[in-house]
Amino acid sequence: MPDKITVAGVSVDTRHWIGGERVASAGTFADHSPIDGSALGEIARGGPAEAEAAVAAARDAFPEWAATPRTERARLLHAIADGVEKRIEELAIVETTDNGALLRSHRRGVIPRVAHNFRFFADWLLSLDHEDFETRGHTNHVSWDPAGPCVLITPWNAPLMLATWKVAPALAAGNTVVLKPAEWSPLTASLLADIAAEAGLPAGVLNVVQGYGSEIGDALTSHPDVRRISFTGSVPTAKRIAESAAAQLTPLSLELGGKSPLLVFADADLELAVDLAVEQYDNAGQVCLAGTRLLVEETVAEEFTRRFVEKATALEQGDPRDETTDIGPNIHPRQLEKIDGFVRRAVAAGARTVIGGHRKDGQYYAPTLLTDVAQDSEIVQEEVFGPVLTLQTFAGEDEAVRLANDTRFGLAATVVTGDRDRAERVTARLVAGTVWVNCFFVRDLQAPFGGSRQSGVGREGGTWSFDFYCDLKNTVTAP
Ligand code: NAD
Repeated sequence: MPDKITVAGVSVDTRHWIGGERVASAGTFADHSPIDGSALGEIARGGPAEAEAAVAAARDAFPEWAATPRTERARLLHAIADGVEKRIEELAIVETTDNGALLRSHRRGVIPRVAHNFRFFADWLLSLDHEDFETRGHTNHVSWDPAGPCVLITPWNAPLMLATWKVAPALAAGNTVVLKPAEWSPLTASLLADIAAEAGLPAGVLNVVQGYGSEIGDALTSHPDVRRISFTGSVPTAKRIAESAAAQLTPLSLELGGKSPLLVFADADLELAVDLAVEQYDNAGQVCLAGTRLLVEETVAEEFTRRFVEKATALEQGDPRDETTDIGPNIHPRQLEKIDGFVRRAVAAGARTVIGGHRKDGQYYAPTLLTDVAQDSEIVQEEVFGPVLTLQTFAGEDEAVRLANDTRFGLAATVVTGDRDRAERVTARLVAGTVWVNCFFVRDLQAPFGGSRQSGVGREGGTWSFDFYCDLKNTVTAP
């Protein structure tokens, strides 16, 4: 197996990054581009031995990194951000080639935000404080102590963005890290290891291991030296990780799937509502937060649907490297199969296809809207993770809220209404980690982020991230 492959002109190391060195594995797995299914190369296929080596490297590097002054940790995180900014073009084209999301959004939005993730948590670290307080003359002092080696496991739909939401606060907090990216999009994590090394991050502070979750996962998540596990991915995998982590009672942060509602009230600006609804096809529907259940007040449903169809059918689907493309491919033939299965079963159960409902050439699925769907049907209750939306109607706030909350998820919700009081009333009754009112996808790293019910456990962002990645200590000193 060659140690390096060239992807869209960029050299990417295919080996693990452990203890400041590139490490090969006996086995490999093939990485393909969803754009045209072409083989990109063979990637090191880690297992328990690589997990053990990476955790050992993180454990050995921990004491020195934990003792490194906050200002120096922050300086190094800013240096990583500088490295990301210097390589925006390379990171953007490699990410697009590997996971099929739009090049223009990687270039202008996602990769600059990756750099911002490091800068934000570096700066937040420096302002992290809790005022001392007194108890009968004794002083209470709260400190955020680094917890230890952290295992970070991430999915393929926004690989570098989701990885750095975890890597940046974990490192800022003084922890060392073992990052395991998804096997369907392993490349930019390897480039991040290069960038961190060039920035001067000491060996063993950030380790990257590649491989199938089923082969390397347990060894990472049950390891007694691991002090935190942060996972973003699907509910079934989260349950397996929780079982594995239970052996050591390792604290977990779980960012999972969703089946979020987008509620459109009759008093809404309908143009805005339609724009927000069409936006749910972004990233070919492979967005955990997507409002895939359109709930529309019955009096405006016909007009809404007419305008939605007009806009959605005008979307350009094709090569994600083209500036004019709106929707790219889906990540993997298996994912495509899964999406198609959901749609076929929904139609067999009586759903009506308003648009789409079929595969296209290559790894593309037509943007789909299904209506006449029952609340307890699979298509309404389960996450498809493809460009498939359902439309249901409601009469009044009570029914809207009942339908919105009636799944096992609670990640996000969007409310579109022209009435501020209604927005407040409805929002208060929704079960969701994030609610957007007359907007979508506005995310500030200061805000808590996470899901309720089976959409997750815990919150990350701002101080919440440091609460998770640190061992909080209260020191009480006598007068
Ligand atoms: P997945 O659960 O299949 O895989 C996620 C990661 O877990 C991959 O790196 C995989 O290799 C690893 N993994 C698999 N089995 C493992 C095991 N036994 N032990 C340890 N690791 C293991 O999820 P996916 O298909 O990659 O991602 C899609 C899912 O992620 C969707 O459900 C989506 O909603 C969710 N997601 C959630 C958020 C959020 O912030 N809430 C963001 C993006 C994606």
